[in-house]
Parts: sequence; structure tokens; C-alpha cells
Amino acid sequence: MARLADGTRWRSHRIAAAAAFVALTVCAVGGIGPAPLLITGMAASAGLCAWITRRMERERVQTLYALLARIGDGELGASLPDSAHEGTLRLQRGIARAQRGYAEALARAEMERDDLQTLLSAIQTGLVALDGQLRIRSANEIAERMLGLQTIDYRGRLLAEVIRQPELLAVAERAAISPEPITAEVRLTGAGAESLMVAGEPLSGSSSGGVLLALDDVTRLRRLENVRADFAANVSHELRTPITNIKGYVETLLDIGTDDPEQVRHFLGVIHRSTIRLSTLIEDILLLAFLDQPRVSTHLDFEQTSLRSVIEDACSQVTLMAQARRMTIHNVVPPDLHATVNPSLLSQAVLNLLSNALKYSPEGTTVEIRGELSNGFAEVAVRDEGPGVAAEHLPRLFERFYRVDAARSREVGGTGLGLAIVKHIAMVHGGSASVDCPRVGGTVFTLRLPRGFRQLNGI
Ligand code: ADP
Repeated sequence: MARLADGTRWRSHRIAAAAAFVALTVCAVGGIGPAPLLITGMAASAGLCAWITRRMERERVQTLYALLARIGDGELGASLPDSAHEGTLRLQRGIARAQRGYAEALARAEMERDDLQTLLSAIQTGLVALDGQLRIRSANEIAERMLGLQTIDYRGRLLAEVIRQPELLAVAERAAISPEPITAEVRLTGAGAESLMVAGEPLSGSSSGGVLLALDDVTRLRRLENVRADFAANVSHELRTPITNIKGYVETLLDIGTDDPEQVRHFLGVIHRSTIRLSTLIEDILLLAFLDQPRVSTHLDFEQTSLRSVIEDACSQVTLMAQARRMTIHNVVPPDLHATVNPSLLSQAVLNLLSNALKYSPEGTTVEIRGELSNGFAEVAVRDEGPGVAAEHLPRLFERFYRVDAARSREVGGTGLGLAIVKHIAMVHGGSASVDCPRVGGTVFTLRLPRGFRQLNGI
């Protein structure tokens, strides 16, 4: 009884007093001697007390057990009103202290996890952790994007089941059994990336084994390498024809002498045309190489300029060509349309568009140049009345050496680089170039230039 808390002891005393009172009353009413009855009553009340005490203890234990069960089920803030029972209260306080400690540790762990997550999503390398059976334990956001996993519930599933990329699986399998880290380049199909450089190494700190795959997206690098290789092959192919012509006709002239003036004139004509072709090609290649330089805009002067005057300059350079083809050029760009541009580069871009319009449109047609402000950009559109360009060619038209009809392009003195130069000039200005073939016929090329020049990194 002494070990019980105050409330229980008080209640037990009351029960004992009540039992004694009942015994005395029975004794008085029944004329029974008080002593035997009192002893019996006291014994009964002691038994009753013990029974009630056990029952109350059991209730307290059950209440505490229910509280612990709620906490165990994740209700971390679960609590009970303070118990009047001292021991129970002490236990409640102990549980509350443990809850606070646990909540603090959890908050710390969550903070560390968030920091780690921020760090992992900031790095541009994709990371995939696999267990000993090559099940995906986790992957960062970059890896999800590279492998197209964003919408897949992949955690705990076999890599082979989630990702059907044989080359990547082979690297993971090799990495799982290799004592040394391994690296390999893999090609993916139908994923976010096309080419990945994969480094696989055993997952340190994991008792059950496993592999960490580090993925670097080299798609852009490989595409650039391909573009460069294609460009080099195209340049040598384009240069070879005029050089071979010049060499061949000069050798023939040296052999046959100058006795036949008619033939000499013909040969010199071919040599002249080949020389012009060679010099146009070299000029275009050099201009593209210049525009390709990193941060090229820092080497250029940009000034607030009336676009109409820049376009007039370009028009004046094709007057003879337009006359020869009985074509008319309408410059309807408003005089007050201004933008911050490099005038000579912009004039070169408009010149390329104009000469294309003149080259590829039928004689006697009209070319119109319009200019307007659109969403803060100055837009210059060159529209011709030519045959237009079939839709399948439009997406590739600004690529280097891409021609719809290579023979026709060469016949009219094209290098295949004119539109690539236009695109780069627009980019150097922080703008863009696009093409559209309206149903009514003709082709419209549009330059979109920010009115105030924005310095672009890497251009
Ligand atoms: P090219 O020196 O061959 O003209 P460009 O890069 O200037 O090279 O143009 C690429 C190709 O786009 C041309 O060969 C031609 O097939 C097509 N093209 C360009 N401008 C026009 C146009 N105004 N009308 C029809 N086709 C055009």
C-alpha cells in the first residue's frame, strides 16, 4: 500500500473505512460482538483494496501501452493528460523526454537528408545506387532524367526490369563483380540522353555489397563531334571541286599554249568562276569560324541602329542581281524601328536572305522586307514569291551545307553556308532566325532581335 501513489492510497483508505463502517453497522444492527466482525471486515477490505489496486495498475499499464503503440505507429506527438499516480506520471514524463529526443534526432536527420538531396540535385552527374542483386536503391534527379525514370516507381526493383538498356546493364553487371572501378561509354535508346559515360564502382559502406553508377551525359559532346567531323568532310569536298578545276585548266593551258584564243577564253572563264567559288567558300567558312568563337559578342561593337538603314545597305548590294532577274525589292521596314545591333553583321545576314530570295524565286517576282515590333523584339521578315521549301526540309535548313537541291544551289553560286551564317548572326545578337512557308506560296525568313542587346555567355 505504501508504494502506491497518493490518489490510490487515499481511495484504498476510504474503501477500508467504508468496509469497517459497514461491519460496525452490521454488528450494531445484528447484536453481534464487534470484534469478530471488525476483523472479518478488515480482512475483506484489505482483499478488496489489493484487488482494486491490481486492477488500477493494470489499467495504467494498458493506457501507457496504448500510448507507446500510438507513438510506435508514427503519432510522434501523442500524449496523455498528467496522471495523478506518481509512478505513472514519472513514466509519462520519461516517455515525453524520449519523444522530444526522438523528434529532435528525426528533424536533424531530415535536415541532413535535405542537405544531401540539395547537394545531389545540384551536381550534374547522375547517380544510381544499386544493391548486391542490382536492385535500384536510389537515384538522383539528374539520373532520373537521363534514364527516363521520372514517372516510374523504380525503388527496390531490378535495374534490368526498369531500364531496358543492354549496354548500361552490362556495365552495372561488370561493376558488381569487378574489384576495380570501371568506366565505359554506353548508347541509350528512347531515354532522356543518347550517350552516357558511365563509371561504376563498388558501393563502399554497404555490408550487402552493391554498385554506385555515376553517369555523365555526353550526348551534346558527341553530336558536336559529329557536326565537326561532317563539317570538315563537307569543307574538303566543297573545296576540292574548284581547286581541281583551277589546277586542271591551268595545266591544260600550259600544255596547249595560247594559240586558240577562243579555247583560252573558255578555260580562263572556268578558272575565274572556280576562283570566285573558292573565295566565296573561304569567306563563308572564315565568317562562320569567327561567329563560332566563344564569347564572340565581346569582340564586336553594337549600336542602337535604324534597321531600315541596315536593310537599305543590304539591298544596295543586290541591285544588279535583282535587275538581271527583273525582280523588285520592297523595303517596307518603318524608319523608326531601332535595335542594338552590329550593323555590318546584320547587313550580311539580310544580304544572305535577299540573295537567296533572288536566287531561288522565278524571274520578275517581288521580294518584300517587313519590320515590326513583337513582344519587345524587333522582327525583320524577308518574303519571296518563289516555290517555297517542302516541310520536311524546314527543320534542317539552317544546318551547315544543308541544301534542298545541291546541284541547283551550286548552279546559282551557293555555298550551302548562307543560312547557317544568318542563324549565327541572329544568335550573336541574342536573337533567333526562323523559316516559314505559308500555304499561299513563297518563303518567309524572319530575324528576331532583342531591341536592347543582351550579352550572352558562351557566344
Ligand atoms: P545556299 O548557298 O545553297 O543557298 P543556304 O544556306 O543559303 O545555302 O540555303 C540552304 C538551302 O535552303 C538552299 O540550298 C536552298 O535549297 C534553300 N533555300 C534557301 N533560301 C531559299 C528561298 N528563299 N527559297 C527557296 N529555297 C531556299
